[in-house]
Amino acid sequence: MTVEQLRALVRDVPDFPKAGIVFKDITPLLAHARAFARTVELLGEKLRNRDVNALVAIESRGFIFAAPLAAHLRVPLHLIRKAGKLPHDTVSISYELEYGSDSLEMHIDSIDPRDRIAIVDDVIATGGTASAAAKLIEENGGNLVSCTFVIELAFLGGRDRLDGREVDSLIRYE
Ligand code: AMP
Repeated sequence: MTVEQLRALVRDVPDFPKAGIVFKDITPLLAHARAFARTVELLGEKLRNRDVNALVAIESRGFIFAAPLAAHLRVPLHLIRKAGKLPHDTVSISYELEYGSDSLEMHIDSIDPRDRIAIVDDVIATGGTASAAAKLIEENGGNLVSCTFVIELAFLGGRDRLDGREVDSLIRYE
């Protein structure tokens, strides 16, 4: 399957979760067995090209892609979650939202400074979430070599928010 065939399985849902947002719904892609497997394969190639050997998945749709990817690549999987969800000791970072702020957490033992780490999420929109995740990893000694997304909403400029860090995406919307 080609990237264009995968793109055709991403459904646009206008005005979700609020007016003016066109939500990229990945459930048709997940429901198509060959397309989901192909997505994991293609992301895996990108990560292999960067010699990535550990993944950090961002809650929650990032988990859907990062988990099979980590198993496919035979690399460790670590989680970044919203505040209060991880059971062990955590490190955290706060970041600004359109209204107010939010925070992300990661277990203190997730980072091995010898690893070449990639962040994995389903969508990069403004880049706020990924940039907070990148800082959380780097401030705790991690070597972040790629921020990898299934979908990039390029017109929102999320890449710029990542300040020169490597960004890989499969399906771009200009
Ligand atoms: P941002 O921090 O603006 O890059 O937003 C990234 C997070 O919000 C990702 O974890 C996405 O799952 C979600 N997200 C933002 N915009 C969209 C969209 N248009 N469609 C689907 N998910 C989105």
